Amino acid sequence: MKIAVLPGDGIGTEIVQEAVKVLKVLDLKFELEFADVGGTAYDKHGHPLPEATLKLAKEADAILFGAVGDWKYDQLERQFRPEQAILGLRKNLGLFANFRPAICYEQLTDASSLKPELVAGLDILIIRELTGDIYFGQPRGRRTSPDGAFAGAEEAFDTMRYTRPEIERIAHVAFQAARKRSKKVTSVDKANVLETFQFWRDVVTEVSQQYPDVKLDHMYVDNAAMQLVKSPKSFDVVVTGNMFGDILSDEAAMLTGSIGMLPSASLNASNQGLYEPSHGSAPDIAGKGVANPLATILSAAMMLRFSLNQPQAADRIESAVQDVLAQGLRTADIFSEGNAKTPSVVKVGTREMGDAVVAAITKKTTTKS
Ligand code: NAD
Repeated sequence: MKIAVLPGDGIGTEIVQEAVKVLKVLDLKFELEFADVGGTAYDKHGHPLPEATLKLAKEADAILFGAVGDWKYDQLERQFRPEQAILGLRKNLGLFANFRPAICYEQLTDASSLKPELVAGLDILIIRELTGDIYFGQPRGRRTSPDGAFAGAEEAFDTMRYTRPEIERIAHVAFQAARKRSKKVTSVDKANVLETFQFWRDVVTEVSQQYPDVKLDHMYVDNAAMQLVKSPKSFDVVVTGNMFGDILSDEAAMLTGSIGMLPSASLNASNQGLYEPSHGSAPDIAGKGVANPLATILSAAMMLRFSLNQPQAADRIESAVQDVLAQGLRTADIFSEGNAKTPSVVKVGTREMGDAVVAAITKKTTTKS
């Protein structure tokens, strides 16, 4: 098994280091190969996704990715900006299905912005289509407006589009994922206004005929945004397009207490995947040793489960994360005001949190043997 490790920028290097530490303690046979990506790659090689990095990513069974981006690159031409590396990887590897589980751990209910009773036990899975929609649709650009009330004025435009096969394949992914959970899919669209999403709704409904054991309902995106904060536990698997998924998955992230807890996986048709935390490179806290590494560590667990066929190793990581939270360890992002009054809850840095997960895995292994 070969894992391409792309730490990237900002806190990316700090959190990936902890995930690698955790992977190494599992005693599995795999090869880790590191490469530059994002702003770091631009600085060293003049491109955010150098040829060598792309080649490694293509050859690997899975990619463990940190995060990219920094405000200092904001002035660069779009093609050289760090975030283009992620888009390039998605496109070149055909990573069309983005899995973002939003789980609220029992110990973190007080870190959520919602009342504890609304989020306690929350476990939803947002599946976002990743390679189509308005993010990639052509034509796009700037021009002189050809018609309408402001004809002749400068304008910018993008194109929202989805083909039938793109909708069918993400719908199959969602129904199959739901079969392993509570057999319920909510498809989120904007069929009342957008032609693209009426088509989306029609195709998802057609695909659902092949999954009579899975209950499908449809919801408009504005209502879904509202229901996610009103009664988040009413959802199980949510499937939606690229743009709506981008927004809803960040909203769901906050329900769980911190974006620093949320892993993600982006898979292609052959289950090759890119695994990364749901958050960005957090330049505001980079280099301070305070970033939460758990989203990246949990992403490594998803990698073991989805791409490397090591579900037991994934379970070991997830259970170790539960253990460290139960021990009362919290990075700053999940340390709530209430925690300050509880002596058993301790604020720790990135490295201490990674070490604690390693120790929890080692302890369980020793106890078993
Ligand atoms: P961000 O996710 O980096 O940060 C948002 C907030 O969450 C910040 O206050 C940050 O300190 C905090 N945060 C994020 N991860 C954390 C962690 N693990 N532990 C503790 N706190 C954490 O989003 P942003 O500030 O909008 O973007 C910063 C840069 O990241 C930008 O250049 C953006 O383009 C890039 N970005 C990259 C990715 C990616 O690499 N996949 C995703 C989103 C944003």
